[in-house]
Amino acid sequence: MNLKELQRSLWAEYEEKRNIEALRQRQAQDLIYQNHPYLKSLEEDYGKMKLEIVKAVLKNPEMGQEADLKLAELEEDFTITKDSMLKELGFESDPRLPQYECQLCKDTGETDQGLCLCYKQKLASRIFQQEYERGKGQASLSKMSFSIYSTKKEKEGLSQRDNILGIVEDLNKFVQDFDSNLEGTNIIFSGQVSQGKTYLSAALAMELIEKGRLVIYQTVPSLLELLRELAWNYNENSVELKQMIYDCDMLILDDLGKETINDYSRRQLFHILNMRYTARKSTLISSNLELLDIEKIYGDAFFTRLMERCIVPNFFGPDLRLGG
Ligand SMILES: [Zn+2]
Repeated sequence: MNLKELQRSLWAEYEEKRNIEALRQRQAQDLIYQNHPYLKSLEEDYGKMKLEIVKAVLKNPEMGQEADLKLAELEEDFTITKDSMLKELGFESDPRLPQYECQLCKDTGETDQGLCLCYKQKLASRIFQQEYERGKGQASLSKMSFSIYSTKKEKEGLSQRDNILGIVEDLNKFVQDFDSNLEGTNIIFSGQVSQGKTYLSAALAMELIEKGRLVIYQTVPSLLELLRELAWNYNENSVELKQMIYDCDMLILDDLGKETINDYSRRQLFHILNMRYTARKSTLISSNLELLDIEKIYGDAFFTRLMERCIVPNFFGPDLRLGG
C-alpha cells in the first residue's frame, strides 16, 4: 500500500467513526423519545421560548438583564425535567451529546492548524507497521525479550546479552529524558550485519509510540521513495507530511546504505538531518556500514551533523540469524 492509499484508508476510518457516532446519537434520540414522547415537545417548546426571548432582546436591548434571568430560569426548569427523564432511562448525562475520541479535531482528523496530532500519530504508526513487518508483534523496549542474544563471554568478559542489556539501559534513559532532551540527541546503530539493530530500533519506536510520541520509522530506501512520491503529488497535504519528517518527535531511519547512493539521495538525507538538527529533534540511524564508511560515503557535513550530539552503542557477538 503506498502513502496515498494509506491516507485514503485512514480518512475513510475517520468518516466511518463519525458515521457510527452520528448513528449512536440518533439511536439514543429515538430511545429517549419512544420512552418520553413528552420530552420531544418540551424540547421544541423550550427552543421556541429561547428564540422568542432572544428576539425580544434584539428589539429592546434594555431588556437584556431581565432576559438573562428569564433564560436562566427557563433553562433550569427544563434541565431538571430533562435530567429526571433521562435518569429514568439509566442515563447520567444526555447520551445525545457528541462523544469524540479526539477532542482536538472532533474526529475529523483536521484542525484549523492543519492535520490533527491524532491523525499524524495514526499515519505514522501505519507507516511503521507497513515498513516494519513485525509491526504489531514487535515488543517495545520495556517488554523486549533477550533470549536471542548469546550469553557466551566475549569482549572483556562481556557477553552479547550483557552488552545489549547495557544498550537497552541507555535507550531507556534516552526515553525517560525525552522531554528534557532539548538538544535532540541522535542515536547511531552501526556495524556488522545481524546484531539485532533493526529489532532494537523498532523496539525504541514502539516504546515512544506507546508513550504517545510522533515517531516515523522508515528504511532509507523507502524514505527516499516517499519523498519522491510527495514531490510528485504536490499539495497542502504533502507539504504537511514532509514537515512531519522534519519535525516529528523521533525519526528512525533503518538500513542506511541500502539505498541507491547518488547525489540526489545524499542531498536529501543531509537536508533531513539538517532540518531536524535545526528543530532540535532526535534521529536514529541504523546501518550495516561502519562509522568511517558513513563519513566517507555521505561526507563530512552529514557526519558532523549526525555525530555532534549522538549516542553510539557498540554492537558485537555472533550473527543472530545463525545463533537463533
Ligand atoms: Zn484529532
